[in-house]
Amino acid sequence: MRTNQITDEERLKAFKSVKKPEVIDKQKLGVRYHVEDFDVNDRPRGFLEAFAAILKHSNYRMVLEHFSRVSARCSHCAVACQVYQATGRREDIPCYRSELLLNVYRRHFTLGGLLKGRIASGDYLTDEKIREMAESFWNCTACRRCALECPMGIDHGLITHLGRYILSEIGIVPRALVVSTREQLEGPTRNTSAVPVPALKDTLEFLEDDMFEEKSVKISFPLDVQNADYVFFPAVSDFLMEAETLMGIAAVFRATGDKWTIGTGYYDGINYGLFYSDRILERVIKNIDVETKRLNGKSVLIGECGHASRSAKYFLPTFCCDKTASPVLNIIEYTYKAWKDGKIKIKPDVITEKVAYHDPCNLARQRWIINQPREMLKSFCKNYVEMTPSGENNICCGGGGGTVSIDEIRPYRTTVGGKLKADQIRKSGCEVLVAPCANCKKQLRELVEDQGINCQIVGLHDLIYKAIEFDVPQPADTEELSNGKGVAQKEGK
Ligand code: SF4
Ligand code: SF4
Repeated sequence: MRTNQITDEERLKAFKSVKKPEVIDKQKLGVRYHVEDFDVNDRPRGFLEAFAAILKHSNYRMVLEHFSRVSARCSHCAVACQVYQATGRREDIPCYRSELLLNVYRRHFTLGGLLKGRIASGDYLTDEKIREMAESFWNCTACRRCALECPMGIDHGLITHLGRYILSEIGIVPRALVVSTREQLEGPTRNTSAVPVPALKDTLEFLEDDMFEEKSVKISFPLDVQNADYVFFPAVSDFLMEAETLMGIAAVFRATGDKWTIGTGYYDGINYGLFYSDRILERVIKNIDVETKRLNGKSVLIGECGHASRSAKYFLPTFCCDKTASPVLNIIEYTYKAWKDGKIKIKPDVITEKVAYHDPCNLARQRWIINQPREMLKSFCKNYVEMTPSGENNICCGGGGGTVSIDEIRPYRTTVGGKLKADQIRKSGCEVLVAPCANCKKQLRELVEDQGINCQIVGLHDLIYKAIEFDVPQPADTEELSNGKGVAQKEGK
């Protein structure tokens, strides 16, 4: 006998709660709703209450209503999914995964489902089904490649996101993500890697020294500059792990002369809310907006990070609905335009290794950034090769949707989720793989290591940094050289 079975009366109550959800308003915390005090021994009830509250306060119902009616269960989507291709398991067919949640919706939140349940019992939401959803939704990388194949337009990435969102409301969410977002939203450093401001300043000064030694020109990381054209938010982990990417970006700004800045009030572009919770997504977006306004910046500029760019570009206008949200652009767009306008000088053919480009799903799937990096790379990489498929049809690195942050599932990521990508890299024979996304870089480095592939993973601006040329040093640069000073004077510091 199941211990967590829900009675008809309780199901009816859950159904009714769509209109009148049992929610505790936490306006003072800036949270629109929050289901709390559920009994952890009765997860199905907590799940349904959370589901009801989300349906009440969002427009997911419209999408679910459509998806739950049109699914043809034709399995066209299976061919697109790198997880299914690696395992061949029925449970990994995108449609099978989505049906787990759509069935709950049909059964508990539609009149038909409710009536059916009253006539013939069964099909209740159980703990076992919640466990299956939890495992399944975190097996998906939310790459949305399958959506391209579905003749009915079903977006499994969206369903995966909603499933994770509901699960997170009842406390089912990977620990790594909770720890990171808690530090970002409530911790003293206000970022996911817990980098304090003094460490940030030390790192940037160190990089400025390096750049001065290597390029013989003064290249700065301006901090807290008011009225800048661009307020820069990289994935904060770049300050710890992607020095060359950051140096490439600073060098591009040195060449264009545009006014940019990093704000010390908030400097993390990462938004794990995109992977599992709209409430987190909204709070992170608002932090970016507040910091940009504090500095009176004109635009939000996101670094080499796919999900950070997509979340800011599409959700800043949504969550900052006072119509004053700043425009958002990704650093590749900025650099590409500067290059096309002739503001950046790049030595041709400076990179001699065999180079390929990996499309981060969050930049390419919606055809946002595909050709720009390729055009630039081809101009200075002697031996550029293309991986197939690519662009909007790209194969996910295997660590998308936040799964790359979960170290416990590294073997899964590098043998199942990333298997097709590993095959693709091997086939291309590339020695250097350019991946302009912090998450992709981490996953791809682990992938090539675990799969024994001899390939270096770098950012786009890492190579631009190697190839960029500056005119003869300016007087200020020469002065710095003769003084033996390496640290550029930072504006506003
Ligand atoms: S391709 Fe679309 S309709 Fe066909 S099984 Fe997949 S989700 Fe369902
Ligand atoms: S979003 Fe990606 S990983 Fe998830 S089911 Fe679709 S193709 Fe597979």
